[in-house]
Amino acid sequence: MKNLSKTYNPKEVEDKIYKLWEKSGFFNPDKLPKSYNLKAKSYCIVIPPPNITGELHMGHALNAACQDVLVRKKRMEGFKTLWLPGLDHAGIATQNAVEKELKKEGKTRFDLGRKKFIKRVWQWKKKYRNTILGQFKKLGCSLDWSRTRFTMDKDYSIAVNQVFSHYYKKGWIYQGERTINWCTRCSTSLSDLEVIYKEEPAELYYIKYGPITIATVRPETKLGDTAVAVNPKDIRYKKYISKTIKIQTVLGKAEMKVIGDKSVDMSFGTGAMKVTPAHDMHDFELSEKHGLEKKQVIGDDGKMTSISGKYAGMTVMDARKEIVKDMRKIGILEKTEPYTHSIACCYRCDTILEPILSKQWFLKMKELAKLAKKPVKTGEMKFYPKSFEKGYFAWLDNVRDWCISRQLWWGHRIPLKGETDVLDTWFSAALWPFATLGWPKKTKDLKEFYPTDVLSTARDIMNLWVARMIFSGMEFMKKIPFRKVYIHPIVLTKEGKRMSKSLGTGMDPIQLIEKYGADATRFGILYQVMRGQDIRFMEDNMVMGKKFCNKIWNASRFVLLQAENTKHKTQSAKLKLNAQNLTPADKKILKSLGKIIKSIDQDIESFRFGQAAHKIYDFFWHDFCDIYLEKSKKQLSDNVHYSVKIQTQQILLYVLLNSLKILHPFVPFITEEIYQRIPVKKKKKSLMIETWPQPAKAG
Ligand SMILES: [Zn+2]
Repeated sequence: MKNLSKTYNPKEVEDKIYKLWEKSGFFNPDKLPKSYNLKAKSYCIVIPPPNITGELHMGHALNAACQDVLVRKKRMEGFKTLWLPGLDHAGIATQNAVEKELKKEGKTRFDLGRKKFIKRVWQWKKKYRNTILGQFKKLGCSLDWSRTRFTMDKDYSIAVNQVFSHYYKKGWIYQGERTINWCTRCSTSLSDLEVIYKEEPAELYYIKYGPITIATVRPETKLGDTAVAVNPKDIRYKKYISKTIKIQTVLGKAEMKVIGDKSVDMSFGTGAMKVTPAHDMHDFELSEKHGLEKKQVIGDDGKMTSISGKYAGMTVMDARKEIVKDMRKIGILEKTEPYTHSIACCYRCDTILEPILSKQWFLKMKELAKLAKKPVKTGEMKFYPKSFEKGYFAWLDNVRDWCISRQLWWGHRIPLKGETDVLDTWFSAALWPFATLGWPKKTKDLKEFYPTDVLSTARDIMNLWVARMIFSGMEFMKKIPFRKVYIHPIVLTKEGKRMSKSLGTGMDPIQLIEKYGADATRFGILYQVMRGQDIRFMEDNMVMGKKFCNKIWNASRFVLLQAENTKHKTQSAKLKLNAQNLTPADKKILKSLGKIIKSIDQDIESFRFGQAAHKIYDFFWHDFCDIYLEKSKKQLSDNVHYSVKIQTQQILLYVLLNSLKILHPFVPFITEEIYQRIPVKKKKKSLMIETWPQPAKAG
């Protein structure tokens, strides 16, 4: 046995150990050794694919650590375990990132043209693919790299096209004119879920419409009004319903229909509202219901259209100023009031969005929403924490048809003749659990690993992604995509704010690994994952993680040194002890070990990673190091009987080995490094495939 160096240096160990794991082939479930206690059952997690837009953030690191704990434990339990890696092409996000890079060269995507631009994005992908996947390796993730998938791979595109034509043939895909969120900078439609709302001070304008006064924050859209809506219960306006009123506008005299609709909020403004179907989602629905005309006064470019009279060609903001001025002049602006307005902005570039009328492709959601609800309702699929079910059902109950077309260049082109739009990124991401396993081919992997076991993900993509994977799985595989959904907490700053790279409040997990080592970083993160609560990130926990690693190292050094001194080798599988010779300290540590093994097992199975980390820390540091190691020194001294000495030696090794096993999913590098030097018989090639311990009876 080679002695352990005096202090633990993660930099000397981590890369070396990762190479050892990769060389062993054990990340690949097909390459697990035959002698290994393989159960017939498989266990599979498909990683939520990070975007190819850059580097991993703390959320990725936390999610990866949680998943690695799960798969490492299952692998040790003898399951045929697959953790499948991959990346998402992330249409709009990647296109923006590459456009930003082009901008530095003084170019736009139009200078390159579609073909060359896409080529450029593939170059970008090649570069960032390795960065991102390399970061997972740094973290110690036991992913099967031979199965790495990308949402724009050839095989994956075949799956996307097949899904599109399936829906198309069913009549669930249709083209329609809808008022959608439009980003004038990105020149694309955005789904409701890609919108960020910002509260901003605004002005509420009270405008006279003949005998009725309406209130609005967007006077420039009044050029596109085609009705005034009131609540039929509102006694102030009842007499006008279904009648046409004469009004004065900034473009001259006009007539306007008054409609009654229950959706009008009587308490907002004057209780009467203008209806602008082409520039407001709610108004669009009203216009469909009441058969109103739709007048588009704002164009794709964010400027007033040709039907806007003298305001044509002005930007929205300029038109607003002019129209307000003109309304004052002709006396139809009654008053203004300060108002806090929630403004919709592009989640990628922050530009204020314009709801505009646009021809888009839609996927009918009625039947698919039912499919998504069913397995959660019946309990076939479970959410952890369960509280997320409520929001999930609420979203599905109110879901609108899914606008699946995007006016981008980077993405899966809609497989219809003459169509230049691409599909929403989430359309392909929705197929992730089965397309990555080879669907539509009937592969061995699909048979073996689908349905997968766990999806571990962030809460902000529950509807964007999780719900859509569920109905896709149900529609195409006739089976749920995963049995359990774990929604991990969000990593916030110390002050409880969102981490943001652009604001400089982000934390780079790779820098933490540089500073403290991967094990300390993992342990420090996992230690903070308590219940569903969001994490206020504390670097102190990484310091704690580093100290803990040193403790593990020093304790192991002590135990291995004793083993060397006595030249005694113990067996890993069973501990044969003479119960009569056990000291109270021996009994106590064996009992604690049995307890901790049981408890950790339950915690990990229930996604209580923080609780498990706390318990394992307390057990190792206090029960084992503070108490038993100290007691053992007496039991190892020359004035005790030789048999006690041997027995103490055995117990030390036994407890250490089992501690390494249960610590391994949390701190894989250091535990493997120690395992490689531990003198036990029937040692496995790697701690990764050691047998997960069963709670042993003390004495
Ligand atoms: Zn944008």
